[in-house]
Amino acid sequence: MNKFMLTRALKEPKGPIIKRILVRCPSTGKLTPTGDTVEEALWADMKIKKPKLRCPHCSQVHLWTKKDVVLAR
Ligand SMILES: [Zn+2]
Repeated sequence: MNKFMLTRALKEPKGPIIKRILVRCPSTGKLTPTGDTVEEALWADMKIKKPKLRCPHCSQVHLWTKKDVVLAR
């Protein structure tokens, strides 16, 4: 392997990109981790089974949709 190939190999992402699923609290505007993760490439087609979240910021249970979600590393 020459130097050029080694540099490329280090920059290539390894495997799927896993993101954490965060939901924005409608009351406080803060992001709350759902505890779930998703492969970024699968997110667009992913079906969410139980979009409920007990929110640590306002102590309420939020129903959320994919529109409320922020994906984070
Ligand atoms: Zn909340």
